[in-house]
Amino acid sequence: MGARREPPHMTDERAKRFPLALADLVREPRKPAGRADASRAKPAAASPGKPGALRSPTSATNSGAAASIFSAKQIPVTAKPVPGATRSPAQAPHPRTSALRTAQRGIERDALNGAANATSKKGAPNVALASTQTLTSERVRERMVERLRTNGITDPRVLNAMSVVPRHMFVDPGLAAQAYEDAALPIGHHQTISKPSVVARMIELVATGRTLDKVLEIGTGCGYQAAVLSQVAKEVYSIERVRPLSERAKLNLRPLRVPNIRLHYGDGRLGLPAAAPFDAIVIACAGLDVPQALLDQLAVGGKLVAPVGSQAAQSQVLTLVTRISATQWRESQLDRVFFVPLKSGVI
Ligand code: SAH
Repeated sequence: MGARREPPHMTDERAKRFPLALADLVREPRKPAGRADASRAKPAAASPGKPGALRSPTSATNSGAAASIFSAKQIPVTAKPVPGATRSPAQAPHPRTSALRTAQRGIERDALNGAANATSKKGAPNVALASTQTLTSERVRERMVERLRTNGITDPRVLNAMSVVPRHMFVDPGLAAQAYEDAALPIGHHQTISKPSVVARMIELVATGRTLDKVLEIGTGCGYQAAVLSQVAKEVYSIERVRPLSERAKLNLRPLRVPNIRLHYGDGRLGLPAAAPFDAIVIACAGLDVPQALLDQLAVGGKLVAPVGSQAAQSQVLTLVTRISATQWRESQLDRVFFVPLKSGVI
């Protein structure tokens, strides 16, 4: 099914959600470059950094996790291949990237055409305008990627992923004009979409120098980071504890037709033992420690990245953990960051 053969309810919904977003994107982003500098977390020089510190398991494997996670509702993202999605090889570093770009263009056109039809009594959609808008959103995203590059992101897979995922489609229409600024934005339920620089940094930390088959994300939120991960890894599992957010992520991702993401509603602190081991685990919310169940679900040689908070200092440090054997993990403390809290249970 091509992107424009989306069932009418979806087209209408996207049109309702994004009519202004695409028009707004014609404007320059309000924030000039330089914000990225400020937002790129500084190395945690003042923290008692323990690069290379070895840690051993502090508790037994959480074998009880299986039952509750297995009973958590699985929400596979409906995704169909996009026929005719092939593009010039020079522009297509990854087949999924092509599919995503094609699906996204169709959706942006649909949204725009829906908006045009809603505001004009003339039935004919403005195709020329639609393609201009689509290109504009790509250009704004390219500038964001340039800033990421300037700020030290080098992995071409990560830069490519950041350049193809339409971040404006993961935020409320009223915030879409800010979608390519380097800022966390509210997504409801007291949660945020992470800043692009932090998303890119975390994925680069776990991906560099290796290919990723299976990745687990804790804290789906609106689904943006899962979409970026889907361009870098073969299979992405993502868990969210707030049901309406998990449902929203499903809606956000569905029209992009990303076939390799599996969303789960549940408590991510328990991980997903059924799908383990994971080559990488990315935690998008801050706990006081990394749950042992997640360390146990990391493959040997796998990497986990997480913001870890300290109650006393009221600060968080991005922590990279590498599993070096069945019983040993190496931990490095990197950038200062600010994330929403990792909480227990589901709501
Ligand atoms: N990955 C998101 C970031 C979302 S913010 C992005 O693409 O930008 C972090 C999310 O973690 C919130 O939605 C919050 O509800 C969720 N969260 C917090 N504790 C959790 C837990 N124990 N299990 C799963 N999700 C959790």
